[in-house]
Amino acid sequence: MSSGFPSNALLDWFSHAQRTLPWRKNYDPYHVWVSEIMAQQTRIKQMLPYYERFLTQFPTIRALADADSQSVLKAWEGLGYYSRARNLQHAAQQIVNEKKGKIPQTKKELLALKGFGPYISSAVASIAFNENVPVVDGNVLRVSTRFWGVWDDVTLPPTRKKIEEMLQEVLPKGNARAFNQALMELGALICVPENPLCEKCPLRQSCYAFVHGKQSYFPVKTKKGKVPIKHFAMLILEKGGKYALHQRTEKLLHGMWEFPMVEFSPLCDSAHEIETKFSENGINVKLGPNKGLVSHAYSHFTQYVHVFSARPIKTIPVEWASREEMEKKPLSKVQQKVMKHVVGATASHSQ
Ligand code: SF4
Repeated sequence: MSSGFPSNALLDWFSHAQRTLPWRKNYDPYHVWVSEIMAQQTRIKQMLPYYERFLTQFPTIRALADADSQSVLKAWEGLGYYSRARNLQHAAQQIVNEKKGKIPQTKKELLALKGFGPYISSAVASIAFNENVPVVDGNVLRVSTRFWGVWDDVTLPPTRKKIEEMLQEVLPKGNARAFNQALMELGALICVPENPLCEKCPLRQSCYAFVHGKQSYFPVKTKKGKVPIKHFAMLILEKGGKYALHQRTEKLLHGMWEFPMVEFSPLCDSAHEIETKFSENGINVKLGPNKGLVSHAYSHFTQYVHVFSARPIKTIPVEWASREEMEKKPLSKVQQKVMKHVVGATASHSQ
């Protein structure tokens, strides 16, 4: 099924159509690694300024390993999925402490590092070290399922496995770096989700979807349900121009700073019940008026944050920070929105 793949045509296309990207200058393994981690959930165009800034701030693996973890999170601010930044630093420390500062060169060894799943391990091994392993990301899945006419559900692990095996078979040995990037680039530029530009595609003559006019059928995915909505009550506590902040210990956004908040039900919970929820976390307050609503969409839920002013009725376990101090701390998108639209608006009203 995987024979007849026009690898040479794909490589020719890539040699002239590839975008000029900073890590493609010399394929420095550290640069490739950072770029792949950043590009996992973010479009290349959006991530480029972050990439440049990150490498200016942490120019070597050792600099990243030795950095203060808060400064790493701060540099990641705006990219989201902060566990990527924590894992990146953790792996940098493993590389410095256990590998004499050298990134392992094979997928097998890379898999042992923090944050290196099958995708990142294959990407770094093949793009940085040219190891003969295929890379399967969303773009590659789309191109492959269209090209071979794979009707299996791509959300199921056996389908990914099957495509990986098919790619392994057609991957030109000694040319994995170019081949993998070419497939990813083709998915990003030509074989796009809606209205692929088949007329410009080097694979079209033997592409199942093109020949049968079935591009929009691939990749096959089971429909996901709607993402749930979660409501949170957030407190703006002010004392002498400083605001109460709390550092997260939960897995999601671990280490980031936020205004104190608890999940609640706007339909069922009274002000008193919200106060009780905060007091269970040691934050004893009297709730004041509602100051606004801010929302943010995560991949697995949508967050509605109801912002309240409040005053403490006992000493509370928080850190007090001025606007300037807050701006130096890593804050998630939703916290930044609250700062801008609620705290900022209040500050300018009160001036
Ligand atoms: S011919 Fe069209 S559908 Fe097939 S791989 Fe190329 S762009 Fe995708």
